[in-house]
Amino acid sequence: MATWKCVKQCGACCHLDPSERPDLEDYLSSEDLERYLSLVGEDGWCINYDQSNRECRIYADRPWFCRVEATTFKALYGIEAKELNEFAIDCCEQQIEGVYGTGSEELEHFFNAVGIEE
Ligand code: SF4
Ligand code: SF4
Repeated sequence: MATWKCVKQCGACCHLDPSERPDLEDYLSSEDLERYLSLVGEDGWCINYDQSNRECRIYADRPWFCRVEATTFKALYGIEAKELNEFAIDCCEQQIEGVYGTGSEELEHFFNAVGIEE
């Protein structure tokens, strides 16, 4: 069975461009939406994302909605803990495809890491 994990040198979920996430208002409170929008840089990437090494500059202090944890996904999407693995894999896959493309090295790396055979 595939097991979700975050892979290094990805960062696709730090591409926050709201035009690519039209449902933000459905799952973020007005306060969280304000915080989310405050993070969006002109190029659509989070202002805390270091594009040179593809890492979060504030990882330990990143917002709660950046965290792939059972409580976060329950609060945001109503996902139960037992569904988290599959849901998180789908989220990452969609986000990586959107940012880097369907045939990208990043997607291949992710599939290999979580144990999905293409
Ligand atoms: S899209 Fe998924 S694998 Fe890539 S950085 Fe975000 S959580 Fe990690
Ligand atoms: S705060 Fe960090 S983890 Fe959250 S989107 Fe920005 S760079 Fe990514």
